[in-house]
Amino acid sequence: MEGVTGLHHVTAMATQAQRNLDFYAGVLGMRLVKKSVNQDDPSTYHLFYADAEGRPGTDLTFFPWENLAAPRKGTGLAVEVQLAVPEGSLAYWGGRLGRYGVRLGEVEVRFGERALPFQDPDGLELALVETGPRPFTPWEKSPIPEDKQIMGLHGARLWERELYPTAQFLSQALGFVSAGQEKGWHRFVVKGGGSGRFLEIKELPNLPPGRWGRGSIHHLAWRVEDTPHQLAVRRRIEESGVRATPQIDRFWFKSVYFNEPGGALFELATDGPGFAVDEDPAHLGEKLVLPPWLEAQRSRIEAVLPELRLPEVEVRP
Ligand code: ZN
Repeated sequence: MEGVTGLHHVTAMATQAQRNLDFYAGVLGMRLVKKSVNQDDPSTYHLFYADAEGRPGTDLTFFPWENLAAPRKGTGLAVEVQLAVPEGSLAYWGGRLGRYGVRLGEVEVRFGERALPFQDPDGLELALVETGPRPFTPWEKSPIPEDKQIMGLHGARLWERELYPTAQFLSQALGFVSAGQEKGWHRFVVKGGGSGRFLEIKELPNLPPGRWGRGSIHHLAWRVEDTPHQLAVRRRIEESGVRATPQIDRFWFKSVYFNEPGGALFELATDGPGFAVDEDPAHLGEKLVLPPWLEAQRSRIEAVLPELRLPEVEVRP
């Protein structure tokens, strides 16, 4: 295995945890597969939404920080996360999101795929993109019919001051190949990768660097199979002149972080062991799960976190 195999998860920044949960589990119908805390700031939740099994490549995660300032959109930051939906489902989604008052764009055709851009309650830019079948387990308790459910991550968009250094890095260190250009977007695709394998970059040489805030994408995590694969990719990252962290144990996967040449924070995350390592797969996300090294502080951590309840799920049409 040469490079990464696609997106593993995308992590973004929200404000109110309950509103975030209501939107992703209630409106978009994703499964809350893990309710945990930010391992570097345990007074903040870390919420994970995915398919029913929480498989790698389906997972969108959030740090809800109540008082986050507005972001500055700019270069060196990912600006959109794309979620895969079944072909022919965008009309259903447009109607549903419209009923919930979601800020919606028009359906566009991008690189031959139909996409519906929209924003979450914190202003995070997302798009639903129609794609063919992929590994995915529908969530039976979702308010969305199984043949319309979000199947996982499709790709992401990134603004850069200079295209070339990032493009070079993507190909040499991570195993991407160029897949064309359209309306100012340069598309890169993971060579031989499975689902969630697109990264689209727009070069904006006169724009200042972006700054994180509410609704920003914090990082893009790319899949690697296991530790040897991760360390091999890490070595190539360092050989191309980019510094990477040592491997960090995130319990559900192992992580390596680095800033790509344009400044965006990327991660390599292993496919295993996965979210069922510490919870019964039938009850994922129901309790606050702490990594073992934080368990001793549980009562203190629980005391500062706001209470969360799963949204009431409407009866499916
Ligand atoms: Zn991550």
